Amino acid sequence: MKIKLIKIGRTPLDFEVKSDEIIFKGYLEYYADKLILLKAKLNGFVKTQCSQCGKEVEVAQNEDVEFYISDGAYDDTNNLAIDIVESFDSQADLDELLKSEIELIKSDYHSCQDCR
Ligand SMILES: [Zn+2]
Repeated sequence: MKIKLIKIGRTPLDFEVKSDEIIFKGYLEYYADKLILLKAKLNGFVKTQCSQCGKEVEVAQNEDVEFYISDGAYDDTNNLAIDIVESFDSQADLDELLKSEIELIKSDYHSCQDCR
């Protein structure tokens, strides 16, 4: 699911995308300048490996996600210290964003029940 950033205004635009085990649901809203706010919830499971023994573990997710999408490169001169994802095709690629959220979860340290 791709949404053109130019179509996003002050009225929240709902979206929902899914992978095999996880639902990414929330909305996009124009924030300021060339920034779009994304607020969503990640709900479901991420399958990954135990960091110690390599056994498959399912990591339950029920997380609030919030970051900004910048239309083009973003120069943080105001030092807003916020999470920004730059889009270089003026679109919000929600499947791609979900994929990177899942990769982020997988890169965390997880251990299975046996290793806890
Ligand atoms: Zn383990």
